[in-house]
Amino acid sequence: MIEQKQKVDVLIIGSGPAGLTAGIYSAWVGLKTIILESGIIGGRAWLAPKIENFPGFDEGIKGSALMDKMSQQAIHLGAEIRPSQEVVNMDLKSNPKVISTQTTVYEALTVIIATGTQRKKLRVPGEEKYIGRGVSYCAICDGPFFKKAKVAVIGNSEEAFSEAVYLADLASEVIVVTQNLEKEVDKKLLNRLQDKPNIEIINGKMIAIQGNHVVEKIKIEKKEKEKNFEREVKGIFVALGGVPMTEMTKEAGIDLDQSGCLLVNRRQKTNITGVFAAGDCTCGGMQIVTAAGEGAMAAMSALAYLRR
Ligand SMILES: Cc1cc2nc3c(=O)[nH]c(=O)nc-3n(C[C@H](O)[C@H](O)[C@H](O)COP(=O)(O)OP(=O)(O)OC[C@H]3O[C@@H](n4cnc5c(N)ncnc54)[C@H](O)[C@@H]3O)c2cc1C
Repeated sequence: MIEQKQKVDVLIIGSGPAGLTAGIYSAWVGLKTIILESGIIGGRAWLAPKIENFPGFDEGIKGSALMDKMSQQAIHLGAEIRPSQEVVNMDLKSNPKVISTQTTVYEALTVIIATGTQRKKLRVPGEEKYIGRGVSYCAICDGPFFKKAKVAVIGNSEEAFSEAVYLADLASEVIVVTQNLEKEVDKKLLNRLQDKPNIEIINGKMIAIQGNHVVEKIKIEKKEKEKNFEREVKGIFVALGGVPMTEMTKEAGIDLDQSGCLLVNRRQKTNITGVFAAGDCTCGGMQIVTAAGEGAMAAMSALAYLRR
């Protein structure tokens, strides 16, 4: 049942680093601020095993600890974080803007979209069939199900390597299947990966996932056109990064670039007045610190718009 309409100055969609920082800034200047979240409060950053590149933490910090601090700070300053509130419809051109979840309709003077990305799929035979039966998109969430088992991590980025290092302490063996390794992978992380005796890096392409009721093996095509080969594993962690969740924003009339990222200017303004976007959904730095910076700028722009 739809609750009564709620009026708000700044409605923020998503509670990752971008949404929470936007919430901190807008609540701090006294604007009525509501942050809606459909999944984990803290967003994808909450899942990071260890963050070593966020300023202020010389020994690093667990993603969950950092994001819990950010959400507490937002609440302390007066923002309201509403969990289990998936935005399902948006009328952004009306005034006020009308945003709906399954239970509530919000009337917002300004909207900040900070919806991050959704996981990229591998798109190989067997992937869909074995989701939840060995195929996972989150090592922190599902890793403990694979204690002392052989697992594979598929990906080319820091995210994949960070997941492999985390899994190496749980699983008996971790195979990292990677192709076109990204050049910017942090040296320190690469060293930590190489220091783990139970991690093996395979330069190749995943071509299939096979099993019976659950995952049993992966098929890999070697880069140098050697014969394809198989490896027995019980778990497969797909860590290929994300694509922006932009279907709904596109329908609402927001301009996107060719990759589906929300187009914003330097002040995080979209093409619709009073609507701003921040963080990974704009395909900026794809980092916590850049998402937080964009969130702060989006909130400052929302304030400027409201004071105009
Ligand atoms: C394992 C891992 C390790 C990482 N390590 C690092 C690191 O060491 N350093 C670093 O800088 N970055 C790291 N990252 C990347 C970092 O987490 C992201 O760049 C950052 O979280 C992006 O923040 P965001 O606020 O834009 O989006 P997100 O954190 O993705 O948050 C978006 C939120 O919006 C919510 N949402 C989406 N759609 C809706 C909707 N319709 N209604 C309501 N809510 C919605 C989502 O549920 C999500 O919680 C890592 C990521 C992962 C997964």
